Amino acid sequence: MAAYAAQRDDELCDGDDDVPELYNSDGEEWNSMEEEGSDHVSVPCVFCDRNLGSVDETFLHCKADHGVFIPDLVNKHSLDDYGYIKMINYIRVNKCSAETLLTVPNGSLPWDSDEYMKPVLPDDPLLQIDVEELSGATAMMSSPSIENQESGLLYRTMRAEEALARAVEDMNKLKLLAQDLLLNADTSCGRSSLGPVAELRDDEDEAYFSSYGHYSIHEEMLKDRVRTESYRDFMYNNMDVFKDKVVLDVGCGTGILSMFAAKAGARKVIAVDQSEIIYQAIDIVRSNQLEDTITLIKGRIEEINLPVEKVDIIISEWMGYFLLFESMLDSVIYARDRYLAPDGLVFPDRCNISLAAVGDVQKHNDCVAFWDDVYGFKMTCMKKAVVPEAVVGVLKPETVISEPAVIKTIDCGTVTLSELEFRADFTLKIKLDTFCTAIVGYFDIFFDMCCRNKVEFSTSPNCPKTHWKQTMFILESPISVKAGEELQGQITVHKNKKDPRALLITLDLSGLRQTYNLQ
Ligand code: SAH
Repeated sequence: MAAYAAQRDDELCDGDDDVPELYNSDGEEWNSMEEEGSDHVSVPCVFCDRNLGSVDETFLHCKADHGVFIPDLVNKHSLDDYGYIKMINYIRVNKCSAETLLTVPNGSLPWDSDEYMKPVLPDDPLLQIDVEELSGATAMMSSPSIENQESGLLYRTMRAEEALARAVEDMNKLKLLAQDLLLNADTSCGRSSLGPVAELRDDEDEAYFSSYGHYSIHEEMLKDRVRTESYRDFMYNNMDVFKDKVVLDVGCGTGILSMFAAKAGARKVIAVDQSEIIYQAIDIVRSNQLEDTITLIKGRIEEINLPVEKVDIIISEWMGYFLLFESMLDSVIYARDRYLAPDGLVFPDRCNISLAAVGDVQKHNDCVAFWDDVYGFKMTCMKKAVVPEAVVGVLKPETVISEPAVIKTIDCGTVTLSELEFRADFTLKIKLDTFCTAIVGYFDIFFDMCCRNKVEFSTSPNCPKTHWKQTMFILESPISVKAGEELQGQITVHKNKKDPRALLITLDLSGLRQTYNLQ
């Protein structure tokens, strides 16, 4: 995953969406069956907590967002007025899901009891319509008339207006964020530019998912061929692992991994994403005729109920800068613990985080010594602001001056949340006489488990560049080192309590301690 948009850097030193929405990619033709004059009411949906402007809109919303066209149910179960009323009350009382409702067989009416004659909502507008008109509605659905098409347009306009309102809201938030950045942030040396804006903290998750709603972040990820081709090759070259399996894609974005899985032979793929990009994914899946295999669900994986009890395989591209930035692995762990079948697999299944020593005196001068003399003035105090910010950038491989040391290995099938905050000792074997000016961090990803054709990739400075680049921790004062010397250190990685998607990384090296923010 690309760290969210506001976080991206270049060269070093240079709507009420809490409600999950289920989409099966089918048509959205509809017809109007509501009586004139009744379209200014507020009608609560039977499946989620949206309020719609009329009974018509409610039926359309149920069809488009939950996959259930209520008039179809009336016909399917040959419901009369009483049967229909009982069914609506039954759904509301039992918070019955769309999926469950669709699987009620003909002739078995779980709402048959008279207790369901009692309205759950006072003056429920859904109970005030003529059921005969409803039965007719289904017939009209199958032969789209001009009115149907007009109504369809109306509905789409309504959805577009909602999307526009959300976009305006997002823009206002971004404006606030930008103002805050101007006031609070130092963006020199190509540093991450989103500060821990305390006042916006409540909105942080919204800002996070909002950033994934924009196409550009997905374009960047898809164009990262090291990343995307690794996932593709792992799936296409291990089709036996995917054949007839139920796969969950946590954070599907544009749906690329889900489509790889479908092509690799998965029987069913459930693709979940909380960001608005899922609306594009719905079109993408449909354009590639994969809608029968891939079911897309909008929502946070932690807040939705999947239409299956268990899945055989979880795939996800959750990695952030320095692997753990963004904390999306937490969501994959949640999904694994809740949905993975006992012998199920999580991919990627293993990851490493490594450190190495960097010797680049010129960059150090540009970023740190620079502050000692700025147009003849001393600004040395600025170093205290500059050094603690971890820098995301592409490191020249020739500036790496030690062997790498693995500081963490993660087994995605078993790792627990508490293991994602850790302390590790490390030893960096120096390769030449020089100055160590920074420590670089990067990660490696493995698709290993049960794979005949194993795939791996690395974000090391010695490997082809990825959009994760590397993460640099600049030392305030360079350390003189000799070839063959072993530089001993300790690293501590914690989530930043003020912003749990950000990391606080402390390095102890040569008797000095420095804490870095990765935000
Ligand atoms: N799988 C896609 C996108 C990866 S980016 C690809 O490989 O190109 C990560 C995606 O996960 C984002 O679209 C983000 O919105 C989504 N995401 C992150 N945390 C999530 C959560 N808890 N629930 C649902 N979606 C989540």
